[in-house]
Parts: sequence; C-alpha cells; structure tokens
Amino acid sequence: MTEHTRAGVRRLTEEVGTGALDPVRLAEAVSAAIAAKDSGPSGLRAFLSHDPAKLADRAGSLAQELDEARRAGRPVPALSGVPVAVKDNLCTLDHPTTCGSRMLEGFRSPYEATAVRRLRAAGALVVGKTNMDEFGMGSTTEQSAFGPTRNPHAPDRVPGGSSGGSAAAVAAGMVTAALGSDTGGSVRQPAALCGVVGIKPTYGGVSRYGLVAYASSLDQVGTFGRTVDDAASVLQVIMGPDPRDATCAGHPPANLFAAVDRGADGLVVGVPEEYFPEDMEPGIRRLAAAAIEGLAREGAEVRLMSLPHHRFAIPTYYVLAPAEASANLARYDGVRYGTRTDAPDADCTYSRTRSAGFGTEVKRRILLGTYVLSAGYQDRYYGQAQRVRHLIAADFQTAFDSGVDVIFTPTTPDVASPLGYRSPDPYRRYQGDAFTVAANLAGIPGASVPIGTSQGLPVGGQLLAARWQEPRLIRAAAALERVAGTPATSMGR
Ligand code: GLN
Repeated sequence: MTEHTRAGVRRLTEEVGTGALDPVRLAEAVSAAIAAKDSGPSGLRAFLSHDPAKLADRAGSLAQELDEARRAGRPVPALSGVPVAVKDNLCTLDHPTTCGSRMLEGFRSPYEATAVRRLRAAGALVVGKTNMDEFGMGSTTEQSAFGPTRNPHAPDRVPGGSSGGSAAAVAAGMVTAALGSDTGGSVRQPAALCGVVGIKPTYGGVSRYGLVAYASSLDQVGTFGRTVDDAASVLQVIMGPDPRDATCAGHPPANLFAAVDRGADGLVVGVPEEYFPEDMEPGIRRLAAAAIEGLAREGAEVRLMSLPHHRFAIPTYYVLAPAEASANLARYDGVRYGTRTDAPDADCTYSRTRSAGFGTEVKRRILLGTYVLSAGYQDRYYGQAQRVRHLIAADFQTAFDSGVDVIFTPTTPDVASPLGYRSPDPYRRYQGDAFTVAANLAGIPGASVPIGTSQGLPVGGQLLAARWQEPRLIRAAAALERVAGTPATSMGR
C-alpha cells in the first residue's frame, strides 16, 4: 500500500478528504512499510522512533474529525491524512526527542514544536522521528549516537545529513513528506543525495519554537517531498509568524504557488563560476550543465556571475556555527534533561555527564567554538567571521539587485559516499558543505531538486533566491523539476 504515500500531497488529501481513503487504513499501510523497509540489520534505519499503535489512534481521531467536517460542510484541512516524518530535533509529545544524542536518550518534551503543531492542525499524520547527526553536526547521519541511516538508492552509502533520516524516509516512500532543519545545508544536502526535493526557507520563515538549537543565527526548519509541489505544500502550512519565536518574521507567509504557472520563461538564472571547482564530481558537472541548458530552452535567461567571497564561506561557517553551538550546548549539564553520570561533586558530575553524553564531533565543535570565543581570540576569529559573513551576504544582494531572479548551483560537489568512509581530516570533510552553507550565512531561501544520477546515485541542483522570494524560488524549482525529468525515486516501487 505504499502507493498511497507515493501519491503526493494533493491526491492524498483529496482521497482522504472525500472519504475515499480511510486515514486508519493509510496509517496501517505506513506502519507496514516502515516495518518492511526500516528495521532489521539490512533496514534503512531512517526512524529513531515510530509507534504504530499511537499512529493508528491519531488516524482514528482524524477520521472522526474529517467525518464531522464533511457532515457540517466545512472544508477539510490542507494536509488531511498526509503521513509526515519529523527530524528528531523537533519536540513532539507522542515520541521522544533525542537529537541523535546519548545526552538526550529517552528525553520526552513537555511541549510540541510550533511546526509540528501546525502539521497536526492541518490534518497531517505525524508518523515518527527520524535519525540525524548528533545535534545536527554532520553531513552523513553517521554522527548519530544510534547508528547511521542507509541511502535508499544504495544501501551501502550514506543518505547525507544531518537530516538524513527524513530524506531517506521520503525517498523510500515510507512517508509522503518530512520536516528537517538546515543550519548549513542539512535539508538540501540529504535531499540531493537521496534524490528528493528539500526546501530551506528564509531565515525567520518558520518558527523555531521547539526546535532544539544548534546555531541560532543559522538554524531554519525546512521540508522534504518527492516533488516540489509536496515539499512546498508542507512548507506553506508551517510558515508564518509565531508569538512564541521572536526571531520568526511577523508578516503572514506568501502564497508559495503564486508564480508557479509562469515557468522558466523570462526568469533570470545566475550561475556563479565559484560553484564549479576543478575537482567536483564530473557527472555532477555534466548534469548541472544539462539542467542549465534545460532552463534556457524553457525561456530562462542564463547569466554567468561571480560570488567573489565564496571561498570564505566554509571557514566563516565553521567559526560561527561551533561558536553558537558551544553556547547552546552549555545547557546539557545532566541536571534538567537527558542522561546524567553522577559523581561526588557538581563540577565532576557536569564533566562526566558531558564526556559520556556527547559524541566526538560534538565535542570537537564545542572545543572549536569555545576557543574562537575565548578572551583574546574573540575578535580575531568570531568577530572576523562576522565581518566576512556580511561580505558573503552582500555578494548575493549585489547579484539579486542586478536583476538575477534565482541562482543555480549543484547542491553538493560529490555524490553519496560509502558508509564508513571518511577523510581523516575534518577540514576536508567540511568542504562537502561548500555549496550549501552560504545560504544560511546570508539568511536566503534555497531548494534542492533532483537533476539526474551519476554513478547510479542521485544528484541535486540547488536554487537560491533573495530573502522572502519563496514564490520565485518555488517557481524556479518547479521549472527545474520539469526540465530535469522525473525525479530519481524509483527505489522500492
Ligand atoms: N554539515 C553541516 C554541519 O555539520 C550542516 C549541518 C546542518 O545544517 N545542521 O554543521
């Protein structure tokens, strides 16, 4: 019955809305798909928690609500019956919230994230919580304390990260859509490596109430779907002001589909030379070129351009993100939440708890962040990174001011790596984020859309737009999806 989860948001809500499809049957089908694909030694392990009985319960109440709405002639909500998976750093009442960390193993939040509440209010079925790199720090899900997720297209490869579980759950057809978070690419990159669509909205677009903080000036909630329509339909529901998050923009969200019918005709697409380095995977270069040609054939005006400060994006990000993380993660002291390793005195309890609770990568980031914020170095590292961040953002602004509507780049410089493979040099590993971090530094929205396969593995094309130009971004993403052909999501059909 996974054909239901593959049907797409619009068809599903229509079938559930008219009563043709019973949410309880749908919930059973979803749980059966997860049982078949996700567990066991060769399973994908996209989910950290999933409770079939609770899901069936929720589906039962939804069925009742929909019946009442139909009888009263009220419209059914926008995501009625849509099965959605949620990254394990968004707080939920039905499931634990672990952030992929021993530190929060078994932690149950007393409240629910705004994004999750909005999904439920729109009739979505929250299916379970998905695997992730610990606290969002990583690009493979291998930094999860609970073991890695497999890539549905190649089970011996990583799905990307840090929202790898969400991307894999969608790619494998276990759910229709998913939520993730994107601090430096964690929605767009796993979407690219798993052959699905991922959208990161403008900084401040979605409430972060109930999103466990990684780096607060960069974090955003984003969405996954097998199509642009699916990912955007979910984003439409969760975007918009929230009195519980002062960093969330105060104005009502735009109609994300307002410009979608205009296609690529007349769209000015900027192509920055810096995003096509010598050493990128040749298949990705070829597919990116083909995607650009495709957009041009549909009437887009392609402009070669430059983002001159691009080479500073990785060093800037890897100063700022760890600095903010070191402050945000100071709260895990074993007193209020999560696991504790007891010791005779308080200081010792803190240090033992943190030594046992955090994984290697998280510790590396805390050390890095503490160092760049330390007395005597703060201006040299943190202050300098802040200044460079402004230059990176100004590069984008200059391009958009000169008439560029959207910028096209590959989402990643390489395809999914084999599980267990990692460069011993962390700086080299961080280079894999070279195409995604700048959007977070600039606070602009971005999307990754499948543009084909190389070495049999999915490749994503990234689109970036000016702040609050989501309708333009969605218009370009839909056009790109059309010219790039059917998404590479054949797995498991
Ligand atoms: N891979 C990047 C990091 O490790 C981005 C992660 C993210 O967006 N959460 O910080």
